Amino acid sequence: MSGAVALIRCPEARIYDHGPGHPLRPDRVLLTWDLIAATGLDRLDGVDVRGCEPASDEILRLVHTQEFLDGTKEAGNGAEGNWSRFGYGPGDNPIFDRMHEAGALVAGASVEAARAVWSGDRLHAFNAAGGLHHAMPARASGFCVYDDPAVAIAWLLREGAERIAYVDVDVHHGDGVQAIFWDDPRVLTISIHEYFPGFFFPGTGAATERGGPGAEGSAINVPLPPETSDAAWLEAFRAVVPAAVGRFEPDVLVTQLGCDTHATDPLAQLRLTTRAYRECAQELHALAHRAAAGRWVATGGGGYQWARVVPRAWTLAFAEMTGALAELPDELPEVFVEEAERRAGGEVPATFSEPELGPGRGDDEARAVVDEVRRFVLRP
Ligand SMILES: [Zn+2]
Ligand SMILES: [Zn+2]
Repeated sequence: MSGAVALIRCPEARIYDHGPGHPLRPDRVLLTWDLIAATGLDRLDGVDVRGCEPASDEILRLVHTQEFLDGTKEAGNGAEGNWSRFGYGPGDNPIFDRMHEAGALVAGASVEAARAVWSGDRLHAFNAAGGLHHAMPARASGFCVYDDPAVAIAWLLREGAERIAYVDVDVHHGDGVQAIFWDDPRVLTISIHEYFPGFFFPGTGAATERGGPGAEGSAINVPLPPETSDAAWLEAFRAVVPAAVGRFEPDVLVTQLGCDTHATDPLAQLRLTTRAYRECAQELHALAHRAAAGRWVATGGGGYQWARVVPRAWTLAFAEMTGALAELPDELPEVFVEEAERRAGGEVPATFSEPELGPGRGDDEARAVVDEVRRFVLRP
């Protein structure tokens, strides 16, 4: 099932940087590209490495208001103003230099991935810098300035796609993308996430959130408890995603591959290992071929073990896209491990695989949630 694949690699996007100490550090993505290069996946036959252009205001306006774009430009250029009305301020969304330019580059990279696939030139495309799924039409949220997955989906619709399925496996609810297409029956959004309202961001994503008037059933949420393990998470994924996407018959599958579900992630409490990332990528790949004529646009997302987990998670996904996952050696190239350890100032795992963690304390509750979701989401 391999085919022509685009890797969107835009080092310029490193300016998407909230500053020292912020968890969404650019090294997450830069080290991912390093590991993809160190494993040679970017030089396989059929793999095309492409750069990116910033998305224009006209394209960003498919999702965002011009007022928000203007406010983001001004705030990122150091102008004084009441920027909290657009979600900016101390905490998750600090104002940073060239904020608009940075967000536009990330969105442009996701549009480039969508273009590569929609033009028929490439079957699959991956933008590791993307996946900023919390941004709202007129407000930054959860480290996200512009909602690049939503911009790519809106761009595909404008170019003539009639049905898009969006699958979000980040540990946080994909609230921005869900909100933007809440009333749009052309876009199926599915989010599998940790759910613990009042304690865990963003607090939305209950199973009862199912889409707005005229689009009932076009949002699907699988809210999992803390301490859900690989086995229960994969059961949840397999119980819901293939059937829902298959039935929807999308023109394109768009996925957000956040890996903040990892057991060691500092911002969340699920218990996944790279086993889940490997199997999830295989499932999504098969699903793209079965349900969407192979058209698969993938973005990165969250993931805050920036040296130890993120590069491995997304290299596994990219290897699957190229059809080379089975041949990928388990050992990480030494040149990568040395560089990652130098930047991290500590040990970095030397293999893609990880020891099994066994069942999690949330597994029974997770299975009950999945039964509930199946009952009313996947009714015949
Ligand atoms: Zn394929
Ligand atoms: Zn996240």
